[in-house]
Amino acid sequence: MIPVDCSPNQHDPANGRWGDCYRACLASILELQTAQVPHFIQDRATKPEWRDDERAWLSARGLQPIIMVLKLPLPTILECLGPMNPGVHYIVGGMGANGMPHAVVACGASIVHDPGNVGIAGPVEGGQHVLTFVGALSAPHVGIKSMPLVDVSPLDRHERIGLMFSGGKDSLALVYMLRPFWDRLTVYHADAGDLLPETVEVVAAVEAMVPSFVRLNTDSRAWRRENGLPSDIVPWSCTPFGRAFKEGGRVTLVDRFACCRASLWEPIFERARADGVTLEIIGTKASDPGGDATRMMAGMQPGQSTVTVGDIERWFPLNAWSDEEVFSYLRDVGAPIARYYEGGVSKGPECATCSAYWDEGRAAYLAKHHPEKAAAYMADLQTIGLELRAPFMFLTTELAAGGVPPPGLLPGSRALPEADGQGRGTV
Ligand code: SF4
Repeated sequence: MIPVDCSPNQHDPANGRWGDCYRACLASILELQTAQVPHFIQDRATKPEWRDDERAWLSARGLQPIIMVLKLPLPTILECLGPMNPGVHYIVGGMGANGMPHAVVACGASIVHDPGNVGIAGPVEGGQHVLTFVGALSAPHVGIKSMPLVDVSPLDRHERIGLMFSGGKDSLALVYMLRPFWDRLTVYHADAGDLLPETVEVVAAVEAMVPSFVRLNTDSRAWRRENGLPSDIVPWSCTPFGRAFKEGGRVTLVDRFACCRASLWEPIFERARADGVTLEIIGTKASDPGGDATRMMAGMQPGQSTVTVGDIERWFPLNAWSDEEVFSYLRDVGAPIARYYEGGVSKGPECATCSAYWDEGRAAYLAKHHPEKAAAYMADLQTIGLELRAPFMFLTTELAAGGVPPPGLLPGSRALPEADGQGRGTV
């Protein structure tokens, strides 16, 4: 225990500000600075929600509050608990000598730290003293799948923190998980102008919840018109140089990353850096299809969830999580889960009519729920399909001439994903 005092002049209920004696007690027991512990109570002293936030914050550290409400005089409480808990620090809440609720730190049978030098004069209304112990998070009940614990210590190293929120399930889980730290971070969202209404709703819900939200509006449709259609296969004939040949294609195609980088990734990270953010929180998991690539690009070692390059730390809190754990967590906290995740689909689209990301299986989903977007999507796929006919014909001809079967029949070919009930592939 390292004694931490209350912030001076904090208690001003008339203006909606409560003193932070409880925060100081918690910081003392956890041996943290005041600023590292959220002021859970703020103006909610009589509302139980602050205890939920405290529980979530401690849970992320592998801890939990153990609370006792005792209708006994304080000397009796200390006399009973002391011999049974030698050396154990805990928080005692009661009525301060100044007539306001107050908290102090006790150890065994003694009060060992009063963060405001006020003293506990008696119980709060109802004759109660409230004791809070901090213990290790309980092991999960049998049959309930626990989530991997997340070490939140990267938050302690930074003043300017940005959470990159796409509107998908993983970054949504981060938003909920880091709720106790919302007052210290900004949620950044890049909207490329082609979100599904389902995603728009989730983004709007988060924007309304968090205190600091930055939305960057870009226009991926305009980028596509100007630079080419994103495609998962780009033949030479559809590159800008290849189109100058007489066999050149009728449209320019670009890889999916070129478009995403220009419309989503660079704008959001550039904005965060312009804002002075030094901790970037990202929802990518090691189990994601691109998890390994993300880790390699970031320079992160296997098993780690954070990496620092120059002045910037990139933190992947969900690195060890699976899709199932993310969905389970979202259900537990009551987060909105977009409809396109139904039926076991694990990845939601960034842009509804994007002509790449064929593995998302959007055709049937869009046809069912968004026919106009489906028409635009299919028209672009048709355009791409026409451009791919010639290269595939040459490839098949060459393979056949060398006595090799077509790609789909080659030994070691990757099995095609099985379609789910809605026509979407599962990979
Ligand atoms: S999802 Fe598709 S359209 Fe949207 S930015 Fe990425 S590549 Fe471009």
